[in-house]
Amino acid sequence: MDWHATKMTDRHLWCEDVYSCRFERPKDYSFGAGQYLMLRLPTSDGTLAKPFSHASAPGDSWIEVTTHFSGSKYKSALADLEPGSEVSVSPALGRLQIPADDPVTFLVGGIGITPVRSMLRDAAQRHTGLTGTLFYGNRSPQCVVYRDELDSYESDGIRTVHVFERESNEPAAEEGFITAELVKHHVDPTHGPFVTTGPPAMITVMERVMDELDIEPERRVIERFGAG
Ligand SMILES: Cc1cc2nc3c(=O)[nH]c(=O)nc-3n(C[C@H](O)[C@H](O)[C@H](O)COP(=O)(O)OP(=O)(O)OC[C@H]3O[C@@H](n4cnc5c(N)ncnc54)[C@H](O)[C@@H]3O)c2cc1C
Repeated sequence: MDWHATKMTDRHLWCEDVYSCRFERPKDYSFGAGQYLMLRLPTSDGTLAKPFSHASAPGDSWIEVTTHFSGSKYKSALADLEPGSEVSVSPALGRLQIPADDPVTFLVGGIGITPVRSMLRDAAQRHTGLTGTLFYGNRSPQCVVYRDELDSYESDGIRTVHVFERESNEPAAEEGFITAELVKHHVDPTHGPFVTTGPPAMITVMERVMDELDIEPERRVIERFGAG
């Protein structure tokens, strides 16, 4: 693989242990919204590389990944990077892309938002006219990554339904989890693609929701953050 050398430029802590890292975008580095990269860095276990979805859009002049601190040696090394630290990124990988038909229904929880943010940001930047609904599950309103930006896409035709596990005191938000019942309450599930992205456990639950909604395999677009 042809690795590109780059440098971290800054870090944004969203809440608790969730943060975004920005890197200089190497010259000639191109990617599609929704694609991922391998981020390679020195750790106490030697040089390691892990996959991360592009959270930025192809129209941005930087590369951005968003993750949470887990305690692994890789994430400790990532958390220790400072502006100017040198890392490498792989060419863009993966086939995930925004479906051609709309309205699109996105079923996303927590960190699974990264490729969807890339796709929605790209659609907004290019004024593609994409319409749809994003069901975005999080524990509480205190930690909703990219919230303001995602909410702002309502005027472009993408409505975000926030679903909080804990009571939120937000009348417009839903309480609990993303379920088939809840999805049916907001969208007609007989039309359009259903996109779900994120850690394997979340994907398993969202696939069950899609089963209950009778979403045919050809209408399902799935990006699993790892095996399982
Ligand atoms: C296509 C694709 C896209 C992806 N996109 C993203 C993305 O946008 N954002 C993102 O965050 N991830 C993404 N991932 C997943 C990412 O590559 C990592 O697998 C994931 O973040 C977990 O890595 P980790 O180093 O935290 O944990 P791992 O080393 O994989 O360990 C798994 C869990 O074990 C625990 N653990 C491990 N070591 C320790 C330790 N020493 N002490 C305490 N606990 C420990 C942690 O709880 C950890 O979460 C993506 C994966 C794929 C395949």
